[in-house]
Amino acid sequence: MLCVDNFFTGSKANVAHLLKHPHFELMRHDVTFPLYVEVDEIYNLACPASPIHYQFDPVQTTKTSVHGAINMLGLAKRVKAKILQASTSEVYGDPEVHPQPEGYWGRVNTIGPRSCYDEGKRCAETLFFDYWRQHRLRIKVVRIFNTYGPRMHPNDGRVVSNFVMQALKGEDITIYGDGSQTRSFCYVDDLIEAMIRMMATSDGFTGPINIGNPQEFTIRELAEQVIRLTGSQSRLTFKPLPADDPKQRRPDIGLAKETLGWSPTIDLAEGLERTIKYFRGKL
Ligand code: UDP
Ligand code: UDP
Repeated sequence: MLCVDNFFTGSKANVAHLLKHPHFELMRHDVTFPLYVEVDEIYNLACPASPIHYQFDPVQTTKTSVHGAINMLGLAKRVKAKILQASTSEVYGDPEVHPQPEGYWGRVNTIGPRSCYDEGKRCAETLFFDYWRQHRLRIKVVRIFNTYGPRMHPNDGRVVSNFVMQALKGEDITIYGDGSQTRSFCYVDDLIEAMIRMMATSDGFTGPINIGNPQEFTIRELAEQVIRLTGSQSRLTFKPLPADDPKQRRPDIGLAKETLGWSPTIDLAEGLERTIKYFRGKL
């Protein structure tokens, strides 16, 4: 197992417990540069995923998705590896079809602040399918919906870690907009199980396939649930809604159920409990 990271948002501490494992190797490398190694399977998850991080250097974000995909596909082609792409529900943009099935093409702004991430990930999907058509590569494309859990960075900036940290510190909970926008939150262990099952599917199966938890909540409901589970005295405070923030999001996971025999096993309350326990330990 070779773990490759440039540590822009990841941290070595998150894999420290694996370093002593004889089959685990950690390499500092940026996928926008070529990589010559020998592997059988590649999981390409490279790219910051939190809006504050991917908007910090948007040009680099697009490069990471596009040049990163080209390099990883080139590597897969040379060593004949199977390759999985961590795509995203962001390919659906601010969707007018709800819930989102894989056949929906999306509604994405090409020139907004989220475009570096959304269009980078969309172009990566295009590259995967062209390497598949042109070079017969064995590809697997998973579209990941909002995921959370232990080992997120306390300053990740996404909603679950923000709310949990704020609640634990007794700070105001920052709701962007009126909190009526929805998201569907998948616990990290469920996501990983789905990715492993996807990698193990027969060569004819490429995806794209949605992976996420179809239980949908408003952001306000999430805030209230975090306050309840932490027993916090925090109050809600309302901030402006960022540009192009999707109004609603929920995966249609029919395909994942059918082809992977998978559906999430950890509901929001259980996942939040585990996440809260982790962040409590960090404080
Ligand atoms: N590449 C890599 N590792 C490899 C093979 C290729 O990083 O083991 C990169 C290399 O930079 C190349 C890119 O992947 O430009 C695409 O490779 P491909 O063979 O598809 O196209 P090429 O550009 O070599 O014609
Ligand atoms: N959000 C919020 N407060 C925060 C962080 C995020 O209300 O402190 C909102 C954000 O505007 C969005 C939702 O929560 O509507 C999910 O945001 P996140 O950045 O976690 O993921 P994404 O927007 O990429 O789904």
